[in-house]
Amino acid sequence: MYKAILHDHLDGGLRATTALEFAKKASYKPLLEVDDINIFFDRSNCDSLEDYLEAFVHTTALMNTYENLERIAFEAAEDMHNNGINIYESRYAPLYSVNSNLSIKNVLESINSGFKQAEQMYGIHSGLILCGMRNDKKNVEKVGQIAIDYKDMIIGFDIAGVELNFRPSLYKETFKKVEDEGINITIHAGEGDNVESISDALENGAKRIGHGVRIIEDVDLENKLLGKTATYLVNNQIPLEVCITSNIHTNMYENEEKHPILDLIKLGFNVSINTDNRLMSNTDVNNELNICKKIGIENPEELLVKSASYSFLN
Ligand SMILES: [Zn+2]
Repeated sequence: MYKAILHDHLDGGLRATTALEFAKKASYKPLLEVDDINIFFDRSNCDSLEDYLEAFVHTTALMNTYENLERIAFEAAEDMHNNGINIYESRYAPLYSVNSNLSIKNVLESINSGFKQAEQMYGIHSGLILCGMRNDKKNVEKVGQIAIDYKDMIIGFDIAGVELNFRPSLYKETFKKVEDEGINITIHAGEGDNVESISDALENGAKRIGHGVRIIEDVDLENKLLGKTATYLVNNQIPLEVCITSNIHTNMYENEEKHPILDLIKLGFNVSINTDNRLMSNTDVNNELNICKKIGIENPEELLVKSASYSFLN
């Protein structure tokens, strides 16, 4: 039986020990000065999004050689395998890794090579979704073109980064071009911005929604009445890539009990459970499953099985 993770960031899932090893090799000072590498990367209790995002500066800084990228990809897939996953979708903003010694082709090759090694060893199928950074129009356009040029080395296209004030429509030409090439699109929406951002994502070709949990704001819970976008999501069973722990760490919801996932499931939304940033959120698939059980989702493993049928790897 296939179990899938659809939403997990490659630069948010390094093993802390691997990051430290790379830092030593490259004499990367910021990490060599910290007392405890696990505590340093664990941003579960940070007060601001900036503080949470700061951790990515240090992971992407080490994703700068073929060998490092290959190993990071391998270990991500290996960790997923160890949590019972056999379809793994990873996502990354590839331009972070391009430098004078590493072309965009090298970046994609190294990541795919790591995934291939894990597949040979464990049978896990992995694929890469490219993310454009939505605060930078040029970046989104470039990554859109990379997705088209290297279509055979990727499985999808997304935009990531700060959502508020950066609606998908800003990049509608890019989404249109990518969609015309038959590339699958998922878009981070309904996390830092509201329901309108979700409908905007749908209008720009999203087949799945990254997070999407704020669709709950389009529902009158007391009377079980769904608004226009919520109705569309349910009727078309558009998968929502829900990441509970991540939402709590970015202060969207106070705690797990206040997270809307259970209501979304009861209302008939197509919910998948995901890890988002395992390193910064100190989580993994098993932890997310345990949280689901704790808040009353009876058989969360079934959600992972269902996710497999919406994978872009199919
Ligand atoms: Zn994400």
